[in-house]
Amino acid sequence: MQLQMIPSTQQTFGSAIKTMFSVSRSVARGVWALLLVAALLVVPGGCGAATTDAPDDGKISIVCTVAMIGDVVKEVAGDQAHVVTLLGPGTDPHGYKPTRDDIVAMQNADVIFYAGLHLEGKMTDVLAKLGQQKPVYALAEVIDKTKLLDRDGAHDPHVWMDATLWAQVVREAGRRLSERDPTHAADYTRRADELAARCEALFVYGQQVMKTIPPQSRLLVTSHDAFNYFGRAYGIDVTGVQGISTESEANIKDINRLVDTLVSRNVKAVFVESSVAPKNVQAIVEGAKSRGHDVNVGGELFSDAMGAGGTYEGTYIGMIDHNITIVVNALGGQAPTQGWQGKLSTKSK
Ligand SMILES: [Zn+2]
Repeated sequence: MQLQMIPSTQQTFGSAIKTMFSVSRSVARGVWALLLVAALLVVPGGCGAATTDAPDDGKISIVCTVAMIGDVVKEVAGDQAHVVTLLGPGTDPHGYKPTRDDIVAMQNADVIFYAGLHLEGKMTDVLAKLGQQKPVYALAEVIDKTKLLDRDGAHDPHVWMDATLWAQVVREAGRRLSERDPTHAADYTRRADELAARCEALFVYGQQVMKTIPPQSRLLVTSHDAFNYFGRAYGIDVTGVQGISTESEANIKDINRLVDTLVSRNVKAVFVESSVAPKNVQAIVEGAKSRGHDVNVGGELFSDAMGAGGTYEGTYIGMIDHNITIVVNALGGQAPTQGWQGKLSTKSK
């Protein structure tokens, strides 16, 4: 019913407002339009790729922020929902501002799922506003607080890197969908349990193969501090070139400190990330070379975004499998070249 009063995103901003007011006859509708206008005013223009039209077939219309959440919700919802994910492959969530199309998509949705823990830092206000109108769930915020890592006085949001923590997120998606649509509760619970079990099995794989890296070389150097949960979960030291957020710049001191560590621990590879510019990692490779120590770029890891849609790496399980397998093989350990289930599209060396 709200679908009819939301203007096409092709319209200009001015005509969009005009359209909304002309169709907003009831008080409730007027308030709704004002809210949308308020939300639009805090968001700069831009073209998002989100689809906003969901067929009126009785299925739940869901919008998710990051792809890791979108994948979980899609898996758990099955064919009982239409799921739209706003942030695509390679998109950095820390600085992401919702586009006008994103806002329209969220306005049209029945339910919104996001990670939370301040991962989507620039979407906080919009999500809070929408939360007054409809169910908006921060799935990662259900994780037991004692399991969260602290970073500069806040919780480190990169919890998906630990597949057992993510299993809690999967089960929460099942609970929330069951609440929203009790008729299909048994289906949501079953699918959530299945996916959570796969997360837990992947976690065991990660721990097993990580142990094959020589202990001294178990050090993961990458472009920003997205991997602290990964390190704790699978047993590898982690150090990043940037701070917790990709918004801070690495300085020369950090780079020199890391080069020292790589040389002293005889670490042969560093890693770049899909959602972070690789320039800082390249500076480390060059720094090590100038000290006579050869370091390779071990491959591209998925940090805050997944691989391309339709690929194994474009799923949560595939993303984590890829990260584990690439790291283990590049640092001198032994993991199957195509990963946990032989599904990785690129063979790791
Ligand atoms: Zn991050």
